[in-house]
Amino acid sequence: MTDCIFCKIVEKKIPSNIVYEDELAIGFADVSPQAPVHILVIPRKHIPTILDISEEDSMLMGHLIEVCKKIARDKGIAKTGFRIITNCNPEGGQVVYHVHLHVLGGRQLHGPFG
Ligand code: AMP
Repeated sequence: MTDCIFCKIVEKKIPSNIVYEDELAIGFADVSPQAPVHILVIPRKHIPTILDISEEDSMLMGHLIEVCKKIARDKGIAKTGFRIITNCNPEGGQVVYHVHLHVLGGRQLHGPFG
């Protein structure tokens, strides 16, 4: 999608710090990190919100979780602990409308329910 910032990151039209990529997904550093490790994991495919995920995307979403696990291990936060967050629509705190999973860790995390 042409005006989606994360699609532009997927297409490498704007710079990002990519830590993982494969044919279905990429992981890159959040530009405004909220923890020592803050990586965004996104599908290459443009899906605006978690509500737009169809049954045919089930495998893709499972894959994104596998990517989060791999990144957590690679970043050394798997054993200490980490959090995976996805925000949906305005009151859920979603700002970028391309599905993404935040992987946060590297410090004690607090207040999981906003
Ligand atoms: P959300 O509020 O769940 O939609 O999260 C969007 C996230 O994208 C925020 O944590 C932003 O800091 C992050 N973000 C926005 N633009 C960029 C960018 N160009 N590169 C990396 N992260 C970004």
